[in-house]
Amino acid sequence: MSGLLSAYETRKRILSQELSAQEYVSAILEKISKFDEQIHAYTSVQEDTALSQAKKIDKKVERGEKIGLLVGLPVAVKDNICTKGIPTTCSSRMLENFVPPYDATVVEKIRGEDGIIIGKTNMDEFAMGTSTETSFFGVTRNPWNTSYVAGGSSGGSAAATSIGETALSLGSDTGGSVRCPASFCSVVGLKPTYGLVSRYGLIAYANSLDQIGPIGRTVKDCALLLDAIAGYDPRDGTSVQSKGKYLASLSKNVDGKKIGVIDELFGSGIDSRISEHLHKEIQKLTDIGMDLEEISLPTLQYSLPAYYIIALSEASSNLARYDGVRYGLRAEDEGLDWKTSSSKTREIGFGHEVKRRIILGAYALSAGYYEQYYLKALKIRTLIREEFREALKKFDALVGPTMPVLPFKIGEKIEDPLEMYMCDIDTVPINLAGICAISVPCGFIEQLPVGLQIIGNAYSEKKILNIANAYEEETGYTKYKPQL
Ligand code: GLN
Repeated sequence: MSGLLSAYETRKRILSQELSAQEYVSAILEKISKFDEQIHAYTSVQEDTALSQAKKIDKKVERGEKIGLLVGLPVAVKDNICTKGIPTTCSSRMLENFVPPYDATVVEKIRGEDGIIIGKTNMDEFAMGTSTETSFFGVTRNPWNTSYVAGGSSGGSAAATSIGETALSLGSDTGGSVRCPASFCSVVGLKPTYGLVSRYGLIAYANSLDQIGPIGRTVKDCALLLDAIAGYDPRDGTSVQSKGKYLASLSKNVDGKKIGVIDELFGSGIDSRISEHLHKEIQKLTDIGMDLEEISLPTLQYSLPAYYIIALSEASSNLARYDGVRYGLRAEDEGLDWKTSSSKTREIGFGHEVKRRIILGAYALSAGYYEQYYLKALKIRTLIREEFREALKKFDALVGPTMPVLPFKIGEKIEDPLEMYMCDIDTVPINLAGICAISVPCGFIEQLPVGLQIIGNAYSEKKILNIANAYEEETGYTKYKPQL
């Protein structure tokens, strides 16, 4: 299990002209052609434009011109983030042929920092899932063991990063979709505070929860990409000014940091092997100077039902726009009235899981049930937010497992939606509270990756990145790479 060069190290080599962006991009494209038939991380790859951009960047470096932060590093972008002139499918038949006429703000920023959009990555349809199995284009396989899922919904992004089919990638995290696949594929994934990264151009699943987040092989890589994408965007009214320079402010000094170990994240349904393993790993935080204490956040037991009511309610409203008129697919509808035509389009355009969620969400919002479900879920959300706020007055960060289970076999849970939803139990509270969290590799159980989740208050990305970085340096787990 020898290491892969991190984006951070590659960046240094490109800047010092030890390595050209063209050589690096070619090597990445070679890996894609070697592995992706099996892994299926990508829905499309931008071979020609990637190489021509790399050439331009090399010229800039040679001439000593001002160069952006990402210096020709390939970035793989989840296929629900709009890319001008490049299909953006949400891994759905509904948007199979949708080519956006504009770039999402994050994509614009990556290009502006001389990053190269290498391709679009596979995902659960409309980001609804925990395993990338609901993709219309077929599953993404876990590079650590190809009979297993890569996690989801940003499974393509995490798998591509883990096997070296890209330097960096973007995912979106509504209830764990950056952190879950990061954990399953042994890479680092950050869910930023709600508002830190613009959502303009991210195709909505549940907009009060959605956030775009960076995925890298190391904590430094994640900080580098966050530097490139964070910040206020006038086109997203919920975005805020970044407190900036995440990479530059990384230090190994975490002396005296107070860490709360959340009891409920080890609650019912957790694999006992993960619980045991995590407790041992968390102890290592004391070796690097941090203080540990157990803490209970009792409202977290309601977070999963609250999340699924809120997320599905918002989804049912957001997905109403796919009516066969304005975007994407339109079923054969000659002679049909509008209503029949649109329901025919929706019938063939959406997969099972998406339909299930639209129906459940519409039900929760309907007259007579709104108070009983949606409103109640909103109240729980407020309580959860308050509970985190109080806890994070006392602690610098909170920790627990990212996932309560190990990566599972392809097909193992797909027929049982409730069992699949249960896997999100440790990640969804963070989205409900709107705060930030990172998943960092913390070893292996039976050769399958495990992730440690570090949770911070709103806008305390620097703090959790620092803690994750210190832990990574202490343990060295991010140096391992899958052997295919
Ligand atoms: N697995 C969760 C869900 O299915 C989270 C998905 C996400 O974060 N996009 O809703």
